[in-house]
Amino acid sequence: TEEFLRKSDKLNVVGQLAAGLAHEIRNPLTSLRGFLQLMQSGSKNDYYDIMIPEIDRISCIVSEFLIIAKPQVTNFQSNNITTMIQNVITLLDSQAILYNVQIKVEIEDHLPLLPCSEIQIKQVFINLLKNAIEAMPEGGEIHIVAHMQNEDHLLIRLIDQGDGIPEDLIQRLGEPFYTTKEKGTGLGLMMCYKIIEAHQGNLYINSCMGVGTTIDVVLPVTVTP
Ligand code: ADP
Ligand code: MG
Repeated sequence: TEEFLRKSDKLNVVGQLAAGLAHEIRNPLTSLRGFLQLMQSGSKNDYYDIMIPEIDRISCIVSEFLIIAKPQVTNFQSNNITTMIQNVITLLDSQAILYNVQIKVEIEDHLPLLPCSEIQIKQVFINLLKNAIEAMPEGGEIHIVAHMQNEDHLLIRLIDQGDGIPEDLIQRLGEPFYTTKEKGTGLGLMMCYKIIEAHQGNLYINSCMGVGTTIDVVLPVTVTP
C-alpha cells in the first residue's frame, strides 16, 4: 500500500513534548538514584555498566530535544547538496559497515545550490539514514537518489530494504517519543519534520511491509526565510 502523509500538524505539541520529556528523563533518573543508593549502602556490586548507559540515554534525549526546541533559523546559506549527502554518509560509514549495509548514491549532476541551514539539513539526513540502517539488521542496500523534481524543488529520496512500517503505525511517526527501539528516543523524525518545515519543504513516508521504506524529502531551491 502506498500512503503518503504530510505531518505539519504534528508540530504543535509543545505541552505534550514537555510532559513527554519529563517522563522520559524521570525514569532513568529514578533508576540512577536507586543504584547510587545501593552503592552507598555498601552493596558489593557496582552498577556502572547499568548507570553509564542510563546517563548516556538522558544525554541523548536532552541533546535531541535541544535541537528541536531551538528557534527556527532565519538566514540560510547556499549549500552544495551533493557534498552534504557525502559528508553524512561518511559520518555513518562505520555504523553501515557494522550492519552490513551498503549505501548507493545517485545524484543528478549540476544541481543548484540549496539555500538551507547546513547543520540542520545534515541532521535530517543523519536521522533518516540512521533509521534506514537500524531498520536493516540483516544488512542490504540503501539507495539515496537526488534530482530536481520540478523547476524549483529538489527531491532527495532514501530507499531502504528494512522490514517496513505497519500501516497503522505510519500515523504515529513524528510523534514525540514514539519509538519501537529499545534504545530509541522517538525524537528523530519529529526533528526532521520540524527542520524540513522551517525550510518550507515536505517529508513523505511510504512503506511496504517486508519490502522497505522510502522517504522523500522535497526542498525548494528558491526560498526566502
Ligand atoms: P527512534 O529512531 O529513536 O526510534 P525516530 O523518530 O527516528 O525515533 O523513529 C521513530 C520510529 O519510526 C522508529 O522507532 C521506527 O519504528 C520507525 N521508523 C523510522 N524510520 C524507519 C525506517 N526507515 N524503517 C522502519 N521503521 C522506521
Ligand atoms: Mg531515529
